[in-house]
Amino acid sequence: MQAHAIAAAVNRGELDPVELARQTLARIEREDAKYHAFLRLNPNALEEARRVTERVRAGERLPLAGVPVAVKDNLTTQGLVTTAGSRILEDFVPPYTATAVERLRQAGAVVIGKTNLDEFAMGSSTEHSAFGPSKNPHDPTRVPGGSSGGSAAAVAAALVPLALGSDTGGSIRQPAAYTGVLGFKPTYGRVSRYGLIAYASSLDVVGPFALDLSDLALAMDVLAGKDPKDATSLDAPGAFVAALKGEVRGLRVGVVEETLGPGTDPGVKAATLGFLRVLAEEGAEVGEVKLPELEFALATYYLVATSEASSNLARYDGTLYGRREPAPDLVQMMKRTRAKFFGPEVKRRILMGTFALSSGYYDAYYGRALKARRAIANAFARAFRAFDLLVTPTAPTPAFRLGEKLADPLSMYLTDVNTVAANLAGLPALSVPAGYAGGLPVGVQLIAPALSDERLFTAASAFVRATEGAYLKPAVG
Ligand code: GLN
Repeated sequence: MQAHAIAAAVNRGELDPVELARQTLARIEREDAKYHAFLRLNPNALEEARRVTERVRAGERLPLAGVPVAVKDNLTTQGLVTTAGSRILEDFVPPYTATAVERLRQAGAVVIGKTNLDEFAMGSSTEHSAFGPSKNPHDPTRVPGGSSGGSAAAVAAALVPLALGSDTGGSIRQPAAYTGVLGFKPTYGRVSRYGLIAYASSLDVVGPFALDLSDLALAMDVLAGKDPKDATSLDAPGAFVAALKGEVRGLRVGVVEETLGPGTDPGVKAATLGFLRVLAEEGAEVGEVKLPELEFALATYYLVATSEASSNLARYDGTLYGRREPAPDLVQMMKRTRAKFFGPEVKRRILMGTFALSSGYYDAYYGRALKARRAIANAFARAFRAFDLLVTPTAPTPAFRLGEKLADPLSMYLTDVNTVAANLAGLPALSVPAGYAGGLPVGVQLIAPALSDERLFTAASAFVRATEGAYLKPAVG
């Protein structure tokens, strides 16, 4: 059932949120063994649902009344273990709740459980989770993408209508594409990062997954806005639901030529071109745009992201929170704790980032990466003088097989080649299911100028309407 339909029924008093939460929990317990989308169910879900009932009875109208939501396990939930997919936080009970989660609850949503992710959101498949991988509901021998793979899988399998993820370099959009759901990365700052366990703070954004565009828009209207607890959050309330009725006639849509070249799966290319054809039929002016600077996006991203990560992860040293490995002295304790409880990919990132920031190499690596980051942002600004929005495949191929890329980190990193640039430039980007390749879902990515997030929903809405939601189907499995 769609989130907006649930909320309407609960607000009318025709649907009992407690009963819905009970059924949702039971279904997850029955079916999630196949997908491992969830790390943990919320033992207080029924109590949360009961409070929604009381609020509705007291006359409140709640935009997400009774809607079961899944939350990526790098968003803190007070009193409920939050692991970030890491052994080092295996028993961490946060003393506060992330603003994004708080806002969903304020709007009447019920947190059903916490979803699986790559450790500290570092990865593209959820295979770097310390608690085992998630599976793609369209084909359980394949990855659901990552790092928000659990949230994407939970929505794709119709276990919940709505889920939260985070996106540092593609972690919402790439899993959305792999699992055939909608995934949205807002403009940097549009959603508060308070309570999001930091990976790379200048790139991190919180955003939603759904199988229904109205649900995604509804969630964004709830999530967007200034938060006094996050100084980088923007005072830009959402107008996403209203944007669904916007006009695409005359909208200038540019497809990024470099993203359709060799290395892009033919089925992915066909779906992207099909998406553009539909928008053209709806009255958009479709053209091609060259963005040669994007060639440097992946290298730039992996320098900036790992540098920031090496700093952010310094706090996990066994002293303040997380697990501690005993040792005779403090330095040994810190060393042993980090050696024992960080996984191999996290260690790789810390090593890369520490190297890129080290005094002898700073100018050659981190310093140059910042210049390339600016050049990429400028390239987007140039493209947006001629186009209102840009289109690329979300990822060059459909979902790969479990284990396929584990021995080759670079090939894993390459799945993010089309998504990282939007994070470097802080731009909003939406992944829309737009076809199938070899029976697997394909996502198309739409990118807009900063703070023009709503325009993406207008374009996507025209596509969904014209294709009658043909690609927005849950996996049957
Ligand atoms: N896959 C990318 C990485 O490993 C992006 C992850 C993310 O967006 N959190 O860094």
